[in-house]
Amino acid sequence: MKIEFRNRLLLFFAPVIALALATTVLLSWQSARATVERNAERSLMVAEQIFNQLLRQSQQQLTDRAQLLSEDFGFRRAVATGETDTTISVLANHGGRAGADLMMLLSPDGEVVANTHAITEEVARELLQAAEAPLLYSEGAFYQIALAPVRAPDLIGWVVMGNAIDLQFAERIQQLALTDVTLLFESETGEVVSISTWAGLPDAKAGGLDALAMANTLERREADTDLLANAFTRTTVGGKSLYIVLSTSLGEALAAWRPWQRKLWLIGLVSLLVTALTAWVVALTVSKPIRALVSSANKIASGDYAVQPSLSGDSEFGFLEQTLQKVGLAVSEREERILHQARYDALTDLPTRQYLDELFSASTFEKHSLLLVKVRKQRELTEVYGMDWTDQLVAQVADQLQTALSEADVVARIARDQFVVWSENAGGEDVARQADTVANALKFPLVVAGIEVKVDLQMSAALAPEHGASLDDLLRRAVIAMSGAVGAMSQLRLYQEGEDLRLHRKLRVTQRLQLAILEGAFELHYQPKLSLGSRRVEQVEALLRWSDAELGKVFPDEFIPLAERSGDIIPLSNWVTREAALKAAAWRDAGRSVQVGVNVSGRDFAEADFVERTLATVRAAGATPDLMVLEVTESAMMEDVEQGIQHLERLRAEGFTLALDDFGTGFSSLSQLKHLPVDELKIDKSFVLNLPGDKQDLEIVRSTVELGHSLGMKVVAEGVENNAALQLLRQMGCDAIQGYHLSRPQPAASFEQWLEQESLHVRHAFDDAPTESQSVGL
Ligand code: C2E
Ligand code: CA
Ligand code: CA
Repeated sequence: MKIEFRNRLLLFFAPVIALALATTVLLSWQSARATVERNAERSLMVAEQIFNQLLRQSQQQLTDRAQLLSEDFGFRRAVATGETDTTISVLANHGGRAGADLMMLLSPDGEVVANTHAITEEVARELLQAAEAPLLYSEGAFYQIALAPVRAPDLIGWVVMGNAIDLQFAERIQQLALTDVTLLFESETGEVVSISTWAGLPDAKAGGLDALAMANTLERREADTDLLANAFTRTTVGGKSLYIVLSTSLGEALAAWRPWQRKLWLIGLVSLLVTALTAWVVALTVSKPIRALVSSANKIASGDYAVQPSLSGDSEFGFLEQTLQKVGLAVSEREERILHQARYDALTDLPTRQYLDELFSASTFEKHSLLLVKVRKQRELTEVYGMDWTDQLVAQVADQLQTALSEADVVARIARDQFVVWSENAGGEDVARQADTVANALKFPLVVAGIEVKVDLQMSAALAPEHGASLDDLLRRAVIAMSGAVGAMSQLRLYQEGEDLRLHRKLRVTQRLQLAILEGAFELHYQPKLSLGSRRVEQVEALLRWSDAELGKVFPDEFIPLAERSGDIIPLSNWVTREAALKAAAWRDAGRSVQVGVNVSGRDFAEADFVERTLATVRAAGATPDLMVLEVTESAMMEDVEQGIQHLERLRAEGFTLALDDFGTGFSSLSQLKHLPVDELKIDKSFVLNLPGDKQDLEIVRSTVELGHSLGMKVVAEGVENNAALQLLRQMGCDAIQGYHLSRPQPAASFEQWLEQESLHVRHAFDDAPTESQSVGL
């Protein structure tokens, strides 16, 4: 998930601030509580002092009053005379007036003479012996006691006066000390009695605690409640204990702090909100320029390089934006330069093919002409004068073209040595005129870096819409037309309908050829040569057959020239030689003396190791050179006569029989022919096919036979299709014939069968019998 920058800022700041606030509130709360506690403790201490003070004061009062009574004359007399009734009434009156809760008269030795409360003699005696002002427990209550001796003048008794330590007493302390007071003790029955100013005092009975435990519990409660307590004990005469617990509720003191605490929380909340808002605003102010930068960067990425400044230049963001602006400018400049380089040729500043394509696409005309101008032999010129020189030449040619042609014609450079002249709304006549203009412009030699050179041009053209609608189609067809223009130089060659289909077929054949060699789609057919003297088949010619899965039957006249051009002829010839040699060896082993002839291509013959290779192949197949005839065409010989003669001599020395094929179609001179070490001449079938009707052919054949014989060669005629031709050739002294009249080329198996009946076939060939009967194999 992608979190926006400002939200991230918020997510980071909010918890930090919240934590700080919570800590502040907590700490202040803690310190408040500590203060409250400290104050409460102090007030408890004060309360204890007040408590003791109060006890002392009321003790003093009690003592004063008791003395007052003991010195009363009437009272002394009543006690001395033992008038009990009077004594009691005085006691009661006095006590009532003094507000005492307990009045008692004891004899000097501790007997109870009169009293308001029950007291045992034991306790009474103990009371008399007590050093300090004691407490007294009686009938479920505690009393502060004061004693005063009654003398007349000897001691006649003791006055005992007491104040109850009760709720009233507790309330007085509470009012003075502002702490709760709790009195705890156990009654005679063991029940815990609690007297308290505190309403929240827990019930002792429910907890099953005695008074001490209860006091302790209260004191200990401070840990987990708001109660802070301080407990102490007073023991009475007679051993009974009074537990006094002074306590104060922290809750109340703290309650004063609560609104303050609430305010603190409120302040915290408000500042949290303010912080969030601030973070939001900060984030906005930070992310706004970032967003502006991102949008600028995106614009640059999408090709809009004009970054509009939107941020102040003083900030880092503004600086970044300025940098971005510069980047945009630099990129756009560079792009323009690249675009120019792509559209215009660096050397001539003419449009490139790419730009031409754009112009062509933008054209509204359907009719166009495209003239392709090629500077011939530029590679050779570069080899001689160097790249720089040719560059200057090309620049000059470009200048000439531009000057000569009209402004409306677009001159483009599409390859090192090729220019294109493209014209809208132009047809065949226009392009012919352009070609003339171009030829005229470059008719005279140019002077390039002091070297005079006549520019040799080759031109072709294609027209829209006749030859294609796209620039690519037109260019392709102009190139095809150019490749067909080898013969006719510096003359415009217009693309011709179907030219590309023929080219396409050539391409397909060339492509399939390579596969066919790998797939073994080739086969050899055999055509016998008949020796007219011996009337025997002494030689047979191996002819290549190709049946392709896609193209069907392809004949050697079509694929051999293509294989020669592509170089595939070399492995193909090797295969033919091997196959033919295998057959020759097999037939020799079967007792048939027949030589096998193979056709040697000009390309094979041009190879320096041709002799060695052929020899090796023949030997590897188990054959010997004397079983083989090599047919070399006259034109193949003429390519390199010297090497040709060397090859022939060596081949002959090895024992091969050599024939000069297609004789009469090349232009070998008699002087050259004289030196050729060949065994036979094969008169080309074009001179033989029309025999005996064609008188001219007849004369050519006759003189060729004579020429061959005079040079010591055998003469063979190929293309013999009828008996008349055979008879004529025999009369002329021709040594052997080959042709459909005797047999068509046929696969090895059927040829072997044919050979079984060789004499029958030969007889039929010499007879006038129709050729059809021969194929029946009678
Ligand atoms: P080529 O060497 O002159 O072969 C003779 C051609 O004439 C053969 O055509 C053969 O079928 C044909 N022919 C024979 N007798 C007659 C006839 O009475 N009438 C007519 N009209 N034609 C006849 P093919 O087999 O189509 O071969 C054509 C050419 O292809 C050959 O001419 C040869 O130059 C070349 N070729 C054939 N096989 C090979 C080969 O294995 N290697 C090379 N390098 N070239 C080959
Ligand atoms: Ca041949
Ligand atoms: Ca031939």
